[in-house]
Amino acid sequence: MENIKLKNNINLLKYTTIKIGGCTEFFAEPKNISELIEYLKWVKLNNLKYRIIGAGSNLLIKNTFHQGLTICTRKLKKLKINKLSGLVEAECGVMLPVIANLIAQNGIEGGEWLIGIPGTIGGAVFMNAGSGNIWISKNLLSVQFLDLKTLSIYELKKENLIFKYRFSSFQANEFVILGAKFMFRPNKSIKKITYETKRNLKKKTSSQPYHLPSFGSVFKNPSNNYAGKLIEEVGLKGFTIGGAAVSKMHSNFIINNGDATSEEIYQLITVIQQKVLQKKGIFLHPEVRMIGY
Ligand SMILES: Cc1cc2nc3c(=O)[nH]c(=O)nc-3n(C[C@H](O)[C@H](O)[C@H](O)COP(=O)(O)OP(=O)(O)OC[C@H]3O[C@@H](n4cnc5c(N)ncnc54)[C@H](O)[C@@H]3O)c2cc1C
Repeated sequence: MENIKLKNNINLLKYTTIKIGGCTEFFAEPKNISELIEYLKWVKLNNLKYRIIGAGSNLLIKNTFHQGLTICTRKLKKLKINKLSGLVEAECGVMLPVIANLIAQNGIEGGEWLIGIPGTIGGAVFMNAGSGNIWISKNLLSVQFLDLKTLSIYELKKENLIFKYRFSSFQANEFVILGAKFMFRPNKSIKKITYETKRNLKKKTSSQPYHLPSFGSVFKNPSNNYAGKLIEEVGLKGFTIGGAAVSKMHSNFIINNGDATSEEIYQLITVIQQKVLQKKGIFLHPEVRMIGY
């Protein structure tokens, strides 16, 4: 633990895109994988609670005191791109838009959609993030992770993991994703890929409230339906509770109008679920992960 610097009583608000967060007892931002492992060993040794956050773009953190250690991975940014083969190796804290831009510049095709997701590789693999019918698991080769129970590091091929719509095996285990390998298509037209990447971003920013604090889509789409469409049909578009509002631009987004509390956001989520269930007979499952609930 010599090189390890822990911060105390840090407000997590600035580590989430919805700009809401409670206070964590201990906080760390490891600069390399060995430091991350040291922190996890320390957690285990001291029998402490812990939580991992990436870019905090899919998180509702309750505005209370959270015991134990919060580890933010955003400084774990090593990235290797092989221009000739299309192999991409990324540490867990690499941001998806960074990958999208860099592979486009290298003439590698298949990651143009990553531009619109403001999350890290760790968060994206954990969530099996996606856009339309494409999920991050599509181009995935393998994931390297640490099992906190044994403190051992493993690398598993995609075939040995489970990925479904916004689900990965990591949601059912106490594993910390250290990094992942992907294979994209090399030797393609830089001009075409760059155009497609920019087009994807424009499509997202013109149809979703990217300029306001949110955590992206709040609910998973039920099969053969869209959560946003259901929310709109039950009359909740623009509905507010305190500083929390259903976006007028995209009804599956909840936005923080500036001073929303975690409770107001949580209440709004519950009201939406109740109303859609009553009027449509469909239960909307949150996509957003909640800490402290
Ligand atoms: C404007 C906006 C647009 C969005 N658009 C999309 C979209 O089109 N498609 C989509 O799928 N999502 C979208 N999202 C949601 C979000 O960006 C994704 O879910 C993203 O993959 C989350 O990554 P993150 O690093 O922010 O994870 P966080 O929000 O920090 O964490 C999410 C979960 O992953 C876990 N986690 C994070 N890193 C690790 C790790 N290294 N090891 C183990 N567990 C880990 C956390 O514990 C938590 O449970 C959007 C969000 C916003 C704000």
